Amino acid sequence: MDITIQITNAAIAQNTPAVARSGAAGAWAEFLGLVRGEENGQPIAALEYEAYSPMAVREMRRIVEELSARHPCLAVTIIHRIGIVPVGAAAIFIGVAAKHRAAAFALLAGFMDRLKQDVPIWKRRALAELPPPGGLAPVAPATPAQPASAGEVLALLERICRPLEPERVPLADAAGRVLREPLCAPEDQPPFDRSSVDGYAVRLDDMAAQFRIVDEIRAGDWKPCQLQPGEAVRIATGGALPGDGLQVVMREDAEREGAVVSVTRRNRNRHIRFRGEDARAGQILVDAGTALQPGTLGLLASLGCVRLPVTRLPRVLHVATGNEIVAPDESPRPGQIRDSNSTLVRAFLGRRHIAPVQLRIPEDEAAAATAIRNPQSAVDLLLISGGASVGEHDFTLRLLVRLGFTILVSKTTARPGKPLIVAQRGNALAFGLPGNPLAHFVCLNLYVRAALEAFAGGEACPGFQAGVLAADLAAGGEPRETFWPARWKFTGGRATLTPLRWSSSGDLTSLATANALIRVPAGAERLQPGAQVEFVATEIMA
Ligand code: AMP
Ligand code: MG
Repeated sequence: MDITIQITNAAIAQNTPAVARSGAAGAWAEFLGLVRGEENGQPIAALEYEAYSPMAVREMRRIVEELSARHPCLAVTIIHRIGIVPVGAAAIFIGVAAKHRAAAFALLAGFMDRLKQDVPIWKRRALAELPPPGGLAPVAPATPAQPASAGEVLALLERICRPLEPERVPLADAAGRVLREPLCAPEDQPPFDRSSVDGYAVRLDDMAAQFRIVDEIRAGDWKPCQLQPGEAVRIATGGALPGDGLQVVMREDAEREGAVVSVTRRNRNRHIRFRGEDARAGQILVDAGTALQPGTLGLLASLGCVRLPVTRLPRVLHVATGNEIVAPDESPRPGQIRDSNSTLVRAFLGRRHIAPVQLRIPEDEAAAATAIRNPQSAVDLLLISGGASVGEHDFTLRLLVRLGFTILVSKTTARPGKPLIVAQRGNALAFGLPGNPLAHFVCLNLYVRAALEAFAGGEACPGFQAGVLAADLAAGGEPRETFWPARWKFTGGRATLTPLRWSSSGDLTSLATANALIRVPAGAERLQPGAQVEFVATEIMA
C-alpha cells in the first residue's frame, strides 16, 4: 500500500490532488478537517497546532498500517498543517483509495479516532485574533528618475517592512532569533530552598557548639525531615534544604570528627538560596522582542521553555550577475574576475542565521528571469548583485519590472552605492545591488540590514552612532553624502574611528579590516582628527 504523510506549515489546498486514483481503486474517500470559528464556546480567529514531526509521521504511518490490515486499502495520503491555522482553513486532509468503499470509510474513520489520542500533534491554543501579516506594507511606486538619499531609503524600508510571522523552534536552534511572546517563570526560581555552600544544615534557633550528623544531602536528593536540637545534616552546594527554619554552616567554619561536627565560627548568613528569591511564578522574565543571546537561552532552558515562539527567518534568494564573474575557486581568464559578492552576501546573512539560495548567472535577462522565477514563490527577499546601474547591459531594473515588481527606489544620491534599486511585489522585497564590492558592502550594511532587522521584529538597531575621528579624513569636497569605510574601537570611553584608504567603489582591500562606515556629509572637505562624526558599525565589538 502507498502511504504519503506530510506535515507542513503551508496552507492545504482545498482541491488537494486526488492521489492514487488508479483504475484499481473503486473508491476514493476524502476528509478535510476545517478550523471552526469557536473553541469552548468562545469565538476564535485561528488555532495553533504544534507537532513533534518525525514522531508524528512515524505514529501516523503505524496507525495506517495497523488499520489497513483489517481494512485493506490501496493508498493513503495524509497532510496535516501545523502552526497558525485560521478559521475556515484546513488543518488536515486525508484521502484513501480502496477497492471497496466500506474499507476506505472504515480506515478513514478508524484513523480519525486514533489521531487525537496517539499522535504527537497538539492543538496548542486558540487565538482570538490573527497575528498581523508579516512582510511588507503596500506603498506607492517611485518616480524612477528621482534619486533618493540614504536617509530616505532607510525611512522607506522602516515604513514598509514588518516583522515576519512567528514560528516555534527548539531551544537548540533559537540562538540569535527574536522572541515574539513574553516568557514567564512557570514556577518559583529557585523552585525549592537550596544550600549555596557545602556545609552543615542546623536549626537556626540551635546555638549549640557541637552537632550530631544525622544524614547527608547531595545535590539532587529530596529528603524532607524535621531536624531536632543538636542535629545537623551534611549538605552539598545546590542540595535541597530538608525543612524550614534552618541555617547552613559553611564547611570551612566547622570541624568534623566522625558523626560529630563542631562549629568554629557562626554568623548571621544562612547560606540559603530561598525558593522564589530569583523569580516568582508568573513573573515575566524575557520580553517579546528580545534577541535570544546565550544567557537568555540558558535562563529559558532552566525554566523548561523548550520550544520558543520566534520570528521565522526570511527566505532569501541571491543572484550574482555578470559575464565576467567566475567562482572563487576558479582561475579567471583574461577579462574575468572572481565573484566576491556572493561570499560577502552569504557571510553577511549567515551572521543572522539566514542561509540564502544563491545563483550565479550571466548577463542574459531572459535566463535570469527563468532562474529567478523557479524558487521565487517562497522568497521574502531577492538580492540581485550587479547590473543595477544604467549601462546597456544592466538589466536588473527591467528584470524586476518584468517579474512584476514595483520599483520604489531606482538610485541613490549616496556613494558608494549610487545604483541601488529597491522594489516590491506583494510580500517580497527586492534589492538591486551595485556590483562593485565596496558599494555592495555599504548597501548590505545600510539598507539590507535595515530590512532584515524590520523583518525580525526585534529592538531597533542602533543605526547611526556618534564617534570621533582618530585620523585625518580627506573627503575632497565630494558633493554626495559618502559612507567611508573605517575601523572603529572604544578608546577612553568613546568610539574612535580610523578612516581606511579607498579610491573607487571597486576597491576591496579596505574590506579586510573595515568594521564601520563613517557618514561623511555632502560637501565636506577635510575632517580633522578629533572631529565628531556619525557612523554605522558593521561589526559590533565588545
Ligand atoms: P555592475 O553593477 O554589474 O555594473 O558591476 C560593477 C562592477 O562590479 C564591475 O566592475 C563588475 O565587474 C563588478 N562586479 C559585479 N559583480 C561582481 C561580483 N559578484 N563580485 C565582484 N565584483 C563584481
Ligand atoms: Mg554587471
